[in-house]
Amino acid sequence: MNEYDTNRIYDSIKNIGYNKTENQNNADCYILNTCHIRDKATEKVYHEIGRVKKLYKGKKKPIMIVTGCVAQAENQEMLNREPYIDIVVGPQSYHKINNLLKNYTVDKKYEETEFDSVSKFNLFEKIKNRNSKVSAYLTIQEGCNKFCHFCVVPYTRGPEFSRPFHQIIKEAEELVINGAKEITLLGQNVNAYHYIEKSNEFRISDIINNLNQFERLDRIRYTTSHPKDMTDDLIECYSTNKKLMPFVHLPIQSGSDKILTLMNRKHKVEDYLRIYNKLKKINSEIEFSSDFIIGYPGETDNDFQETLNLLEKIKFINSFSFIFSPRPGTKAASLKMISKDIAKERLIIIQKKLFNNQLELNKSIENKIVEVLVENKLYEQNKLFGRNKFLSSVIFEGKEKHIGKLINVKIDSSNQNTLFGKVETNMKAA
Ligand code: SAM
Ligand code: SF4
Repeated sequence: MNEYDTNRIYDSIKNIGYNKTENQNNADCYILNTCHIRDKATEKVYHEIGRVKKLYKGKKKPIMIVTGCVAQAENQEMLNREPYIDIVVGPQSYHKINNLLKNYTVDKKYEETEFDSVSKFNLFEKIKNRNSKVSAYLTIQEGCNKFCHFCVVPYTRGPEFSRPFHQIIKEAEELVINGAKEITLLGQNVNAYHYIEKSNEFRISDIINNLNQFERLDRIRYTTSHPKDMTDDLIECYSTNKKLMPFVHLPIQSGSDKILTLMNRKHKVEDYLRIYNKLKKINSEIEFSSDFIIGYPGETDNDFQETLNLLEKIKFINSFSFIFSPRPGTKAASLKMISKDIAKERLIIIQKKLFNNQLELNKSIENKIVEVLVENKLYEQNKLFGRNKFLSSVIFEGKEKHIGKLINVKIDSSNQNTLFGKVETNMKAA
């Protein structure tokens, strides 16, 4: 989402005369867009500012703006701790950046951290989305009301907010005109999307069904979804929408019901398995990925074993696993941490299993033909980059004219992260 936000901030400030510079030594303004989901993010910001300070020693200081969730969480504290920062802007106040820049005066500090998603998206509706990537992001929902005990999102992104349906479709049209062939719908709880207009109720399934009609769009994805909002209308989309990719990123966090309760997740392992089985029944080709938090306070060997048992039932691919990171202000931050060494050991074990799944899947694709959406040319190499249906990276020899196209690639080798191959023109993809 930060990538989407960064592009939208840029679309906005371009209107008042700012352009991206190729030369980092010669900027009038720096915007550091930050993430607060795990620790170290805050220190990274101060570290980066230290680097910029050195670059500009003896020169005119650029206006330093910190945006994103660190700005929201730390706000005034940042301005106090680092005088080099001029402006902090939280994620629901990006519509104010242009005025802040226009009215900026040296020696004055500015802080905008109000949760005003309505005004933000109303303003951005008037500013064209200039993103011209083959695979484009589109935010449809922000924030969260679920308050998992480990998570900062409800505090940094604010309460759940769904953008007006017509706004989303209009922006999707802009993206397709710009050349997007794939759209990934974004939200911290993307499948909680819920919007009522003139007594019509819209859900994410309605957005997917609508985008499915776009002639020039080839693929639809969405992330990140929550098991509790995996409703039947969305599941049904996998049988009716050819453009919806058969790859579901659905975080479970832990395979232990005890830990899920301690996390305040509001779903059990059984609920997750029910969704998994429903989706597999609708389309057996669907692959799953997930997020896992390892070493959550209270996680015993037995709880961890239950997570490993789940991995025997579902062969997750492309998944994320992290050690629990206590976030200031959240309920879990005050809980007794488990030993760091044990958490690290468990992380190594689970990652090995997840990476093995990925490697096994990739090896099973060798010598087969896969359909790839070609995204770009690799820097200084005569190779192209794209992704298959399951979001795996594919690198292959091909021509620039293939960029933006769906093409068949014969995979001849692979490693855990990437499939390698050559363009195959006359054969049908698996
Ligand atoms: N809303 C989605 C859900 O609940 O399934 C997840 C969105 S969250 C922004 C992205 C991921 O960050 C989570 O699934 C979780 O695994 C991870 N995460 C959040 N807080 C964390 C923490 N304190 N420590 C470690 N990982 C964390
Ligand atoms: Fe964070 Fe997701 Fe839980 Fe919301 S549902 S609090 S975004 S992990």
